This record gives sequence, structure tokens and C-alpha cells, in this order.
Amino acid sequence: MISRQKIAEVLAGYDPRKLTVATIGSHSALQIFHGAKQEGLRTLNICTQERRATYESFPWAKADTFLIVEDFKDILREETQAQLIEENSIVVPHGSFVEYVTAKAILEKFAVPMFGNRESLNWETDRNRQRAWLESAGLRMPKEYKTPSDQRVFVKLPGAKGGHGFFTASNEEEFHRKISEKVNGGEIKPEDAQNVAIQEFVVGVRYYLHFFASPLLKLGLPVRGSALELLSMDKRIEPIDESYRGLPDVPAHFFDYTVTGNEPVIVRESLLPEVLRMGARTVERSMELFPPGMIGPFSLETIFSPGKGFTVFEISARIVAGTNLYPMGSPYSAYLYKEPMSTGRRIAREISLGSERGQLDRIVF
Ligand code: AMP
Repeated sequence: MISRQKIAEVLAGYDPRKLTVATIGSHSALQIFHGAKQEGLRTLNICTQERRATYESFPWAKADTFLIVEDFKDILREETQAQLIEENSIVVPHGSFVEYVTAKAILEKFAVPMFGNRESLNWETDRNRQRAWLESAGLRMPKEYKTPSDQRVFVKLPGAKGGHGFFTASNEEEFHRKISEKVNGGEIKPEDAQNVAIQEFVVGVRYYLHFFASPLLKLGLPVRGSALELLSMDKRIEPIDESYRGLPDVPAHFFDYTVTGNEPVIVRESLLPEVLRMGARTVERSMELFPPGMIGPFSLETIFSPGKGFTVFEISARIVAGTNLYPMGSPYSAYLYKEPMSTGRRIAREISLGSERGQLDRIVF
């Protein structure tokens, strides 16, 4: 694990007037660069040649510098890290960054300062640790079963990304039949068939809550010396959401939970106290589990049922792609900021504040 001490040494060599917000050209990069430019920070896109044209096609989100790599994993190479440090880079981790480079490699080999507490990536990428974190924070999670049950279950494939290949089963026979189909179809390796996660199928409406935990700006809800801002919410769009279009005989391909996009959403105002309580408990618990705890953007992925309340089925301990809906702010950020405030801009604001106050080491790890 790259120590805080090591990062503090690198940061000490940075020119605070030339800080650069850097990230990989994928996921929420446009929003991150757009926000950094709004805050007057320099920007650097770690990009592959094929994607370059895309990231040059949006002038207000186009990075000042492109660092072209053959493969995103190349950011671990010594010369690439040296180049990033040369540019006074603060790297913003996003979903694709964690997916392509892996949390383990980032924590062990990536010595470039990153925005937020690195340890949080360790907690989000391991299902068991996620559960330990959220349950001990008092949040309700879907029940987990060792074997298929007679309840309707939701089955998650190991290593699957964005809901791909997930399925539901109403009994043991259906579970085994669907697993066999997936093994025979090459969708899962036979050895992985033993490692699927079998969860309670949670009924209700999905809300993906986008929070920002700030140790520097006392806006939003106070949480033990930090403050929690609810910046926005989204709902993911998955083929299953449109299955009604195939009625009455819904073709099998509609039963697909792969995330393909996002749409904006808000909750009834009477649900906001619970939304904020869940966010605050998550931050409080993180302070105990991996001090100084969650810093910056994170998302609770929830399903709300009028009978059971909120169930949290996942946490992302970094910016989520659903925030891309709000480059000019959201129905919630409007009550926190007078100017349009996206999550990307909020990250840049925190970096600027940290730099102005000589407190970058509180938010960059
Ligand atoms: P995930 O990869 O965990 O974010 O899940 C992908 C999608 O599967 C979610 O957006 C939900 O639509 C659905 N999902 C995940 N877990 C459950 C669950 N326990 N019950 C019902 N739906 C779920």
C-alpha cells in the first residue's frame, strides 16, 4: 500500500498554482474536466488514441493536455507516473479507472496523489467488506443466501460489470436451469458457477443517491467535523425497464439488467430525512473503519419500497456515472450552491479550497 507519507512527500513538491486535475478518458471524464475548467484548474486526460477524437469533440470539457497510453493499465508504468507528477496532477478515480487498473494495483503501485481516501476503494471493491461497512452503519441490505431458496432471488455473477448477466429465480429448479444455460452459453465459467451471489430480490423503485463528503466546507449536513452534501440522484436504465414493450410474450432478451444509461430522478421530500441519515451513517462508520473516512463523492444504490423503506444494494466510494446527468447542477445542488454545481465541479472546488488553505493533505491521498 502506498503510504500517506509517500503521497505527502510528492505533494510537497507540487506547485500549488499549477495543479492539474487528471483522469482516464472514460466514465465521467467529460464532467470531471468540465468542472475543473469551471474552477480554473488545469486538466489532463489519460487517453487511448481511439478515444482521443471523442474527448476533443466537446470544447468545454476538453482537457488542456492529452497523455496518450496504449492501455489504461499503462498509468502504472514508472515513466507515466513520473509524467503525471511532473504536471502536478491530482488524479480523480472513477468507475472505469478502478475497473481497468484495479483497486489492488492502485493501492500498491500508483504513487500519484489521488483525490479522496484511497482506502475507500478497498472497501467498495470487495462485496464482503461493503456489506460489513453498510450493515454496521445500520443500513438495510438485501439478505444473502448460501443456496437458492424458495423465495424469489436475485443472482449476481462474479466479476460481472454493470449488471451484465444477472438474473432472477423463483425456486431451486429455475436457479439451476439458468446457471446451466449460462455455463453452456459460455457466459460463466463452470468454476465461477459456485461463486454467484444469491440475494433477496428487492422489490421497489431504484434511487441512486449522489453524495459528497467534505472535511473542508461546512455546507450541508454536519457529520462529525465533516459535512455531507446531497448533490443529485439518478435512476439507471436497463433493458428490463422496457420489458413491457414486449408484452404479452416478453422476449427473453428483455430480462437483462445491464446498465445502458441513466435518467434524472428526485425523491418525495418526506423521504429526504432518511436519505440524509443513510449518507451520514455511511460517512460516520467509514471514519471508524478507515480513518479519516469517506472524502469526496460516493453513491448509495438503493431500492425503496413503501412497506420496507430503503434497501441499499451497493455503494460506490467514488464518482458515479449517474452524476453525468447534471453538468449544470441538479434539483438538489441548487439549494446548496448559487452557481451550477456538478459533482465534477465540486471535486475541483474542494481541491482549490485545500490548496488555498494549505490543507491538500486532508483530501488528497
Ligand atoms: P449492481 O451491479 O449491483 O449495481 O446491480 C445492477 C442492477 O441489478 C441494479 O441496477 C438493479 O436494477 C438490479 N439489482 C441489484 N441487486 C438487486 C436486488 N438484490 N434485488 C433486485 N434488483 C437488484
